Amino acid sequence: MINAIFGHDYDHDEHADTARCPECGGEGVSMGFLGRLQWFRCRACGWDFPVDTRQAAPSPIPES
Ligand SMILES: [Zn+2]
Repeated sequence: MINAIFGHDYDHDEHADTARCPECGGEGVSMGFLGRLQWFRCRACGWDFPVDTRQAAPSPIPES
């Protein structure tokens, strides 16, 4: 549901300003971008977590 963001201008706000906290499932609010990562802080537990803006969902970084 999220289109590819190649060459995307962040002023054109199509990404989410909130994301689900991977720790508690609460609402994370956007704190800004670092590279292609968008950082969120959970309102419920205070957890900071990054979301790769190239992906549709705030899934954890895959590790083997
Ligand atoms: Zn949380």
